[in-house]
Amino acid sequence: MTCPFLDYRDSAGDRAFDTARAYCTAVDRFVQPMRADVCNDRYDLDHASDCEIFLAHEDELDEAELEEAELDEDETGGEEPTEGSDA
Ligand code: SF4
Repeated sequence: MTCPFLDYRDSAGDRAFDTARAYCTAVDRFVQPMRADVCNDRYDLDHASDCEIFLAHEDELDEAELEEAELDEDETGGEEPTEGSDA
């Protein structure tokens, strides 16, 4: 399951990106590429146990957000967009 706080944005202010970048809605900032592996539960990582931001903000999620995240996983088979480069 992908973190329910994860979003992808292709712009910030006046700046547009060629590839959408991972954005954490819990803290309203872009996610560093290495952390995006945690957000997407890649490899053996799990946002629910490996991200201190998620743990600090988990109680802000409502039932609908949790259900939506689970539905997204069902519809995509758990596939998520890949992280863009900062270069
Ligand atoms: S895993 Fe952590 S950094 Fe990534 S979207 Fe969730 S709360 Fe934010």
